[in-house]
Order: sequence, then structure tokens, then C-alpha cells
Amino acid sequence: MEECPVEAIILDEEEGFAVVDEEECVDCGACEETCTSEAIEVE
Ligand code: SF4
Repeated sequence: MEECPVEAIILDEEEGFAVVDEEECVDCGACEETCTSEAIEVE
């Protein structure tokens, strides 16, 4: 997903929603708006 500078956001194609790879996520907040709108869940 483009919003994430470290590409920690992964679209789970089986489930059809986006998840965040906690090990990759740097809490930069760039996806904050996207996270809520895309209903991202932390894996
Ligand atoms: S907060 Fe985490 S998941 Fe969101 S854009 Fe930043 S690094 Fe990526």
C-alpha cells in the first residue's frame, strides 16, 4: 500500500482486508487516516 513508507500494510487477499505487520510498522502515522478508512487490523 502506497501510504506506508516501510510497506508494512499487507492486503490479506483471502480475507479481503488489510493488516499491519507489526515488525515492519514504525508507527509513522502516515496511514492513520487510511487505517481507519480501510479498517486495517494489526496482525
Ligand atoms: S503507521 Fe505503520 S503501517 Fe501505518 S504507514 Fe506508518 S509504518 Fe506503515
